[in-house]
Amino acid sequence: MPGRPDVHGQQAGGLRARPREEAAFTCPPAVRHLWAGQARSAYPGGVSPTSSRILVVEDDASLGAGLIAVLAAEGHEVRWAQTAGDARRLLAESVPDLVLLDLGLPDDDGLNLCLEIREQRLPITVVVVTARADESEAVRALDGGADDFVLKPFRPVELLARLRAHLRRREVIGEPKLRAGPVRLDQRSRRGWVCDTEITLRPKEHELLTLLVTSAGEAVRREQLMDQVWDENWSGSTKTLDVHVANVRRKLADAGDRWDRITTLRGFGYRFELD
Ligand code: CA
Repeated sequence: MPGRPDVHGQQAGGLRARPREEAAFTCPPAVRHLWAGQARSAYPGGVSPTSSRILVVEDDASLGAGLIAVLAAEGHEVRWAQTAGDARRLLAESVPDLVLLDLGLPDDDGLNLCLEIREQRLPITVVVVTARADESEAVRALDGGADDFVLKPFRPVELLARLRAHLRRREVIGEPKLRAGPVRLDQRSRRGWVCDTEITLRPKEHELLTLLVTSAGEAVRREQLMDQVWDENWSGSTKTLDVHVANVRRKLADAGDRWDRITTLRGFGYRFELD
């Protein structure tokens, strides 16, 4: 991309992970993070109006450096952890807007990190980056709380577009409380309730339920949900949508909703039913 810094390790238009054996550590496993952009302390605000705080968790030194370079060139404040342990330390210091998470880390499965972020209910968008081009692995990541996944190799321009969509959505969804039937959603705190019982929603689940609640009583097309909750250029499996709808259904039921109010409209989409 013109004007972008060279991506260290870029090959033939794509960021590629080194083969596993090469990725085994030449770098010391100590925290290796760097600040890109103008930040001086952990994720200080105000570098630019569109700046977001991104934690890159990637053990491959070449790929990590490339990611840091392109994200910094976009104006983001970026930190880099090369192990799960380092990432936990950085997350304890400050909460980023988005974590770009490699699943194959030397000291732990990146998925465990994702599960911890969700257990702690941190308002972080998690995008998994994995070389495991296996749909079941991607679904496992989504089930574990990831909002999205990107398979290696990928082109930087595609990754940036995907991240921009995620970050834009975080800003846009800022309306106050929504209510439909017993379900209430607070967009500012990103919390949800069934009557007085709070439900713990992952970011994508919150956005999905927001769209359904906003259109309560009306049919919503699958394509509309995919476009608005994920990416207008989404070309992956729509299984992602089904997994998220199933999770939302279960959470509403666990919180005591008397009946399944998300109706599946075969060949069309879904409808959130009012009492
Ligand atoms: Ca890796």
